[in-house]
Amino acid sequence: MNSPEDSATASSFSWPGQPDGSRREPFDVLVIGGGASGLMCASQAAKRGLSVLLLEKGPKVGLKILVSGGGRCNFTNMFADPQEQFLSDNPHFCISAMRRFEPWDFVAMVEARGIAYHEKKLGQLFCDNSAKDIAAMLLEDCKAAGVDVRVDHEVVAVDTPGATDATQEDEAAGYRVTTTLEHFFAHKVVLASGGLSMPKIATDLAFRVANSWRVQVIAPRPALVPLTWNSRDKPLYAELSGIALDASVSCGNAAFRENILFTHRGLSGPGILQVSSYWREGETIDINLLPDTQAAAWLLAERDQNPQQKIASVLKRQLPNRLVDHMTDQWFTDTKVGSATPAELEALGHLLNGWEFKPGGSEGYRTAEVTLGGIDTREVSSKTFELQKVPGMYAIGEALDVTGWLGGYNFQWAWASGWCCAQHL
Ligand SMILES: Cc1cc2nc3c(=O)[nH]c(=O)nc-3n(C[C@H](O)[C@H](O)[C@H](O)COP(=O)(O)OP(=O)(O)OC[C@H]3O[C@@H](n4cnc5c(N)ncnc54)[C@H](O)[C@@H]3O)c2cc1C
Repeated sequence: MNSPEDSATASSFSWPGQPDGSRREPFDVLVIGGGASGLMCASQAAKRGLSVLLLEKGPKVGLKILVSGGGRCNFTNMFADPQEQFLSDNPHFCISAMRRFEPWDFVAMVEARGIAYHEKKLGQLFCDNSAKDIAAMLLEDCKAAGVDVRVDHEVVAVDTPGATDATQEDEAAGYRVTTTLEHFFAHKVVLASGGLSMPKIATDLAFRVANSWRVQVIAPRPALVPLTWNSRDKPLYAELSGIALDASVSCGNAAFRENILFTHRGLSGPGILQVSSYWREGETIDINLLPDTQAAAWLLAERDQNPQQKIASVLKRQLPNRLVDHMTDQWFTDTKVGSATPAELEALGHLLNGWEFKPGGSEGYRTAEVTLGGIDTREVSSKTFELQKVPGMYAIGEALDVTGWLGGYNFQWAWASGWCCAQHL
């Protein structure tokens, strides 16, 4: 990435930039990335009368929106609270934008457009029909406002006005943004190129640009991601693939009550994805397989009341058959519950209420829904989203070190940051 700190690469491009040597009028704003935050920011900035160019690497905009929420896009969460469901090294940063653009503001856009939606659970709002409705709404808003949208344009470099070979005319043109195809000029640039999940469309452009201006980037890592078995557990549990159950999952101070899913490679499901954002290598995750039952007390009561029943039959009243069959011999000997000692039943109960899962790792960016970390928000204005060290350069959405829980929070952050930034361009 080319900056005053790194002018060597800058001079490898011919200047001025068009292949035919002609110069274009600079845009007021150039948005890099046609995802959730970029589309919102571009349309809102254009509605304010600014000339806006949006450059998207992929063959169409809104690719992540299209695959989100199982194709129905969990586009926001009614209960989004910036102080509760967001992770960041600078946790207060997101509050201002989340208050200025609330879930209801996005719902109002959806309703004005006539898009039918429903609450699935826990405040999560999904399209009735298809995620395509949301992507189409955002793209049409851009077009109606006059945004110049270009797909198949991967940005590879951003130069400052002060690049070593710049002329006075160049400096007046603002930033020079270079794609795999051509150069563009703009007075202001918005980094909306997201994080590293979905490697087919992701690039680390925003992090590289930030770094080149000595803006800190909090080390990115995959989040909302399935976790894998360690080598000891894999042969024991891989065959449980396909079993899903309601569980309570915790890591450190973070606890979630949602389904978990056994897979061939490890554990997945919403409960695991949620806690994965808090888990670090080497740590253990506690899983309560019977979150509504004090399992030891229950088994002891069964010992008194139904002593002739086999332990497995008792457990199958509350747990999936296949799981219990698997536990038999590994977690307990399947005697009559009346024949087991109280100490044996208490030990089994504690295991059921607090199974310790030590992941070997995570599935990585290939399956992660989001990226934890990103541009350090202590270097960004929470009002305008401008990078404090780089006037005219802005960052929004997942490129920033703000990560939401599963459940529509990440899109709400993308809309809120994109909308708020646009008001200050
Ligand atoms: C499978 C999946 C399902 C999800 N489901 C949900 C959900 O239901 N609800 C929810 O809230 N969140 C969901 N998320 C998370 C959500 O999609 C993201 O948090 C959100 O899209 C981030 O918005 P963004 O604009 O910051 O980045 P993105 O939406 O990722 O957009 C960034 C865009 O920039 C483009 N780009 C990257 N590099 C360059 C470059 N160098 N030049 C030009 N363009 C570039 C990319 O192609 C991409 O289109 C899901 C994520 C995934 C992967």
